[in-house]
Amino acid sequence: MAEFRVGVLGATGAVGQKFIHLLRNHPWFKVTALGASERSAGKTYREAANWVESTEMPDDIAELIVSTCEPDQMDVDFVFSGLDSGVATDIERSFAESGVPVISNARNYRQHETVPLMVAEVNPDHTELIKTQNFDPNGRGFIVTNPNCVCIPLVMALKPMYDAFGVEEVMLTSMQAISGAGYPGVPSLDILGNILPYISGEEDKIGIEPLKLMGKLENGKINFAEFPVQATAVRVPVIDGHLLSVAVRLTNNPGDIEEVKEVVRNWKNPLAEFDLPSAPATPVRLYDDFRYPQPRHHSLAENGMQVGMGRLRASNVLDIAFTALGHNTIRGAAGCSILNAELLHAKGFIK
Ligand code: NAP
Repeated sequence: MAEFRVGVLGATGAVGQKFIHLLRNHPWFKVTALGASERSAGKTYREAANWVESTEMPDDIAELIVSTCEPDQMDVDFVFSGLDSGVATDIERSFAESGVPVISNARNYRQHETVPLMVAEVNPDHTELIKTQNFDPNGRGFIVTNPNCVCIPLVMALKPMYDAFGVEEVMLTSMQAISGAGYPGVPSLDILGNILPYISGEEDKIGIEPLKLMGKLENGKINFAEFPVQATAVRVPVIDGHLLSVAVRLTNNPGDIEEVKEVVRNWKNPLAEFDLPSAPATPVRLYDDFRYPQPRHHSLAENGMQVGMGRLRASNVLDIAFTALGHNTIRGAAGCSILNAELLHAKGFIK
């Protein structure tokens, strides 16, 4: 397979480091350029980054000189973005306009009419939206985003039942790991032995992003799904892995929880036809043992790319209830972007 020269925007941050960690042995994508702020530019990556990954910083990356995030400073085939949302709008646009595809984690373009908001297994057909973008008159540069780290396990767990039965309403509480707040994140005196009952900005994203993800692409536009999502986002003293407790009212409740379980277990993975290096063999694993999944033990299943689902049961308030677990910085951030990029290559958008 072709090897692509890849840049990481926001390379020194928590998500940027996860990209570097996940791409260190990637068969198609080689990190050759690193972008960050003026504070970091001109330094080696070893000097600029406060490395928080548990594996060693790769030697070849450590000696790269960090540049500012400008297209003429980074000679690459495409970029991943883990940029701070305060600066992502202009920087990501400048790369797309210069003919460089941008695969982004930042929220800035998630609701842009022509920008796919993608989880590769959930809405792979939304890549077609790229053809309606006009950032780059030559059609090479474009932007693709991935959703918030709670929305990813949520939509992956919901997708099989959404397709089979329809979804009328969703209520959830997301118990979110501290790594989701970046580094240094939440002060230890706030989070140790405690739960923070509110995460600013999170619930709005959880309310809207699933509707675009579950939307139908018709005549070059996404017709959003229509169901209310009420979320309570709380921060818990867990390092990695967001655990969601979800209740759903179905449009056509089969009335038999075993039938719902069968639908989840027999869901046909739309990526099965592609041979993508980061794709989990089983994207959603339904655990029968009601003690599972747990963040510490199951977040890293299938290299952190599998969503664990458990406690699937009938609800006496809505129709069904379940838990879902996703590794927030892998499946919920950098890993989701990398899988999106692999699919974009397989479909000929990155070439
Ligand atoms: P972070 O640790 O604060 O990193 C931010 C990065 O942006 C750093 O590399 C920083 O470079 C760079 N940056 C800041 N100002 C800049 C500027 N003016 N020009 C160029 N680069 C600049 O943040 P993070 O936690 O990695 O999050 C990054 C993005 O991913 C955010 O948009 C966030 O919402 C999203 N996200 C995060 C998670 C998560 O689990 N943490 C999950 C999903 C999505 P310097 O080091 O040089 O300042």
